[in-house]
Amino acid sequence: STVEERHEFSAEVGRLLDLVVHALYSEREIFLRELVANAADATDRRRFEALTEAALALPEKAGIHIHIDKDKRLLSISDDGIGMTREELARNLGTIARSGTRAFGEQLQNSKPEERPSLIGQFGVGFYAAFMVADKVDVISRHAGTEEAWQWSSEGKGEYSISPAQREKPGTSITLHIKADADEFLEVSRLETIIRKWADNIAWPITVHDGEKESTANQGTALWRKPKSELTQEQLTEFYRHTFHMFDDPWATLHWHAEGTLEFTALLFIPSMRPMFEPMDATRDSKVRLHVKRMFITDEGNILPPWLRFVQGVVDTEDLPLNVSREMLQTTPVLNRIRKAVTNRVLTELKSRAKNDEASYLKFWENFGAQIKEGIWDNSDHRMELAELSRFHSTTTQEQALKAIPAEGQKAENADKGSENNPANQEKAQEAQDKTQKEAQEETQEKIRENVQDKALTTLEDYISRMKDKQEAIYYIAGDSLKTLSYSPHLEGFKAQGIEVLLLIDPVDSFWPERLGSYKDKPLRNITQAQDDLSKLAGKTESEEAKTPAEMEKLVTSLKEALKDKVSEVKGTHRLVESAVVVAPAAFGPDLQMQRLMRRSGQ
Ligand code: ADP
Ligand code: MG
Repeated sequence: STVEERHEFSAEVGRLLDLVVHALYSEREIFLRELVANAADATDRRRFEALTEAALALPEKAGIHIHIDKDKRLLSISDDGIGMTREELARNLGTIARSGTRAFGEQLQNSKPEERPSLIGQFGVGFYAAFMVADKVDVISRHAGTEEAWQWSSEGKGEYSISPAQREKPGTSITLHIKADADEFLEVSRLETIIRKWADNIAWPITVHDGEKESTANQGTALWRKPKSELTQEQLTEFYRHTFHMFDDPWATLHWHAEGTLEFTALLFIPSMRPMFEPMDATRDSKVRLHVKRMFITDEGNILPPWLRFVQGVVDTEDLPLNVSREMLQTTPVLNRIRKAVTNRVLTELKSRAKNDEASYLKFWENFGAQIKEGIWDNSDHRMELAELSRFHSTTTQEQALKAIPAEGQKAENADKGSENNPANQEKAQEAQDKTQKEAQEETQEKIRENVQDKALTTLEDYISRMKDKQEAIYYIAGDSLKTLSYSPHLEGFKAQGIEVLLLIDPVDSFWPERLGSYKDKPLRNITQAQDDLSKLAGKTESEEAKTPAEMEKLVTSLKEALKDKVSEVKGTHRLVESAVVVAPAAFGPDLQMQRLMRRSGQ
């Protein structure tokens, strides 16, 4: 069709545009960073796809060109990238496809107006940042391998149009009609400063043209290639936030250069918080980016195993050819050796932090412990190391945590003592106040308790050091929460005999203990299936345990009759101290938590 079509932005885009255009003023320059980054991404993609489809090959001097037209007040950014089809223009520039942008929009909405400029400065909002400096944006794009070009145009006010266009070569040009108050962005020197500040990592040449004059604005020295001594943590953090769309200060920054049999540079980050937003289609694959001689190759190289997928970063190697293909990536031994080295380095960091800075390590564990435990389940190489890195709740840590709390409560009580002598006529009001105060106090107490219990964890090593004389196994129970587990009758007998039981409350906890099997020769045993151990530990023989007193025989018989085939067996037990009955799994069936999970997933 040759007619122009008009479309409405999705509601999300509308809201984001509003925020971007009206609330963010002082950091407007980052629009250029966003557009140049998109141009570089598109060029990377075309280069990579051309490896398997020769028709998509890049022109010889591929790069990014910025043109200024002062008279017409136009600024354009052109690339030789993969380009966009008509459908892609509508999808990519009319809706918010990327999760990072959506999360950013939410963050922006929840922030105070005065915080917003720094937010956008740090994190970026992608393409829509163009509307901070332009009252109209035209995008002309031609997808590599096609003849058709399309123009997308919008004033950033609720709708955009798409119409047929002309473009000599594949790629994308974005033309900004610069706002009356944004003259500065028509000055070469201003643009060059912005590019050096924000886009120096880009390996493609970025050329600024002003009439006849032209200059290359970027050095293309990838940040990770700079010597450590030339980099500040601030620069690294900024790189982390911007490249990986993160919002926090990294918990760990690992930057090293490997030389010898294998040559690569790695810059990795361990976040200090879980991602705020995980896309529906999120896979378990690591997204660490692979570069070859600075050039971006892929973020699907599985540089790290799935259980380290929270690690963000870049690995840049000299040992692969620039034209490495997907097939080659899957088979080359070089990449496997890099994977090993990088994984080991991350584990070394975790071990050293666990050993030297426990408080900080526990914060890490709170965020990513569940993923580390996935590693016990699916990786045999590092299983023992991961078990060593793992932290668990247990009946003992819970008790210790509780003991530590009264001291806190005391303080609150004493602080209240000041207001004792009240005139009689105020007594009633005071009483009511006391009551609400007491309730509030109880509530905070409860919160403190939960909080402290939440954080009280043990290693397997420490558990073993507390094992009782005759105890042979590491005992655990899995459930949904510490609260539900604290009511579990299965625990009674163990508690009564002072035997520590690990309290496992992550969904993944139903899977890994069996894989691990044992730790330092101590078998891991689920207490819902280890009740015979109790009588052994108590010094009773199994036949004693099995013997049901005569007066109980009657009860057992009538229970059997009442329950019929709902249960496979009814028997007397020594393991209950307070509860009258407990439902237990058959000794060799799947454990109860596993049964619950299987039911939930429809198995
Ligand atoms: P992000 O780059 O994080 O995906 P953006 O808002 O910056 O988010 O861009 C949205 C999408 O628009 C990109 O993912 C890409 O598919 C497309 N896009 C933007 N600019 C270009 C370009 N110059 N060439 C090709 N595609 C582009
Ligand atoms: Mg972008």
